[in-house]
Amino acid sequence: MNYISTRGAAPVLSFGEAMMTGLARDGGLYVPEAVPVMANADIAALAGLHYEEIAFRVMWPYLGGLFSEAEFRGLIQNAYAGFGHAARAPLVQLGPNHFLLELFHGPTLAFKDFAMQLIGQMMQAALAKSGERITIVGATSGDTGSAAMEAFRGLANVDLFILYPHGRVSEVQRRQMTTPSEANVHALAMDGDFDDCQARVKDMFNDFAFRDGVRLAGVNSINWARVLAQAVYYFSSAVSLGAPHRAVSFTVPTGNFGDIFAGYIARSMGLPIDKLVIATNQNDILDRAMRSGSYVTDGVRPSISPSMDIQVSSNFERALFDAYGRDGGAVAQLMAELKAGGFAISQGALEMLRGTFASGRCSEEETVATIRAAYAATGEVLCPHSAVGVKVAEEHLGDVPMITLATAHPAKFPDAVEAAMGVRPALPARMGDLYDRPERLTRVANDLAALQAIIRERTGR
Ligand SMILES: *Cc1c(COP(=O)(O)O)cnc(C)c1O
Repeated sequence: MNYISTRGAAPVLSFGEAMMTGLARDGGLYVPEAVPVMANADIAALAGLHYEEIAFRVMWPYLGGLFSEAEFRGLIQNAYAGFGHAARAPLVQLGPNHFLLELFHGPTLAFKDFAMQLIGQMMQAALAKSGERITIVGATSGDTGSAAMEAFRGLANVDLFILYPHGRVSEVQRRQMTTPSEANVHALAMDGDFDDCQARVKDMFNDFAFRDGVRLAGVNSINWARVLAQAVYYFSSAVSLGAPHRAVSFTVPTGNFGDIFAGYIARSMGLPIDKLVIATNQNDILDRAMRSGSYVTDGVRPSISPSMDIQVSSNFERALFDAYGRDGGAVAQLMAELKAGGFAISQGALEMLRGTFASGRCSEEETVATIRAAYAATGEVLCPHSAVGVKVAEEHLGDVPMITLATAHPAKFPDAVEAAMGVRPALPARMGDLYDRPERLTRVANDLAALQAIIRERTGR
């Protein structure tokens, strides 16, 4: 299986190469040259299997022989062994035709564990074969960094550095990044905001001498391997509600469009998904674009669902690539216009997108009201991101069963949840000592040379 760039001007790569590369050299995102379609009988046969076996069957065609079957099965087992629920991604019922897919039973209590745990295992196994050692540097507003720390701690062939904005992540998120004690993982608390952190990481990738010297790699949400790992729970949940014999819909709390794009891949593989509903908070560029056809940036307003506070959704480029008939030149043109503020989606592309995706937006007040109402009606405690999803899903309920993705555990955002419903959600017992573990972090200035010096010194490169 080959991977091509959405901007049409970068080398074609294998799965392993695309996983290590992240962003394509032409600025685009890697996608499979052709999505493998699963026969209805093969989808039906997934019903009742363990999550790990479903993961193996869904992902195997994409790997192009990077691992043997037995190796890949072992990596999947390791990836999900630390989850706090035997079903990995359990479904609970909210109403007659509305279900919640709990994706927060991983080690850092957010759905990002599903992909990050597996990508950690896959990268380590691929590097152990080649004998190479890499340096991963990532920027985070909270959840990606904690998931990466947990996934890469103690791996022999990887050094991990996470840049987070000092004083601007929740205490749980910070402690999840600063309490791992392994020598190969480093939490760097930088002066500035998330955009500053991301800008410095970009600078490092653009400094080719540094990039080659430390063997820099990335694990942000545009990494194809992460998208692929997230396609699995669309299958596991849909078959448990009767797919492929009946269709289901999904509502996805959306920021960078990675999670919902994984649903689009599942649909392209033949899973009968009726609608994929994009749920945004007050940072609603995607909802506005779906309604008006204009994709125009508008600044970021901080919300109580901070993991969805984005200016532009990077993975939306992958959907545009298909909507424009896989014309890389057309996508490159749109992205150039985006740099100047925005672009208009062509009529044909908009029709294609509207055939697959619906959308809705949830204000701060509606988020709070939804947390309160869901608790009163069902006893389910929602995190603010999941509440955005539930509110938008309720506007799209119909004959087709709706599955809303619950993207984080409420205890990861205890202040917002307590403010909404007057009860402080407790951390699961298995991580109850998080507040007692010693922290280890390095305060750093918003200064490229100083950051590079720290990374060179700690990696000895
Ligand atoms: C990352 C994240 C999201 C947004 O996911 P995308 O793939 O960026 O759309 C939503 N909720 C939570 C809790 C997250 O951590």
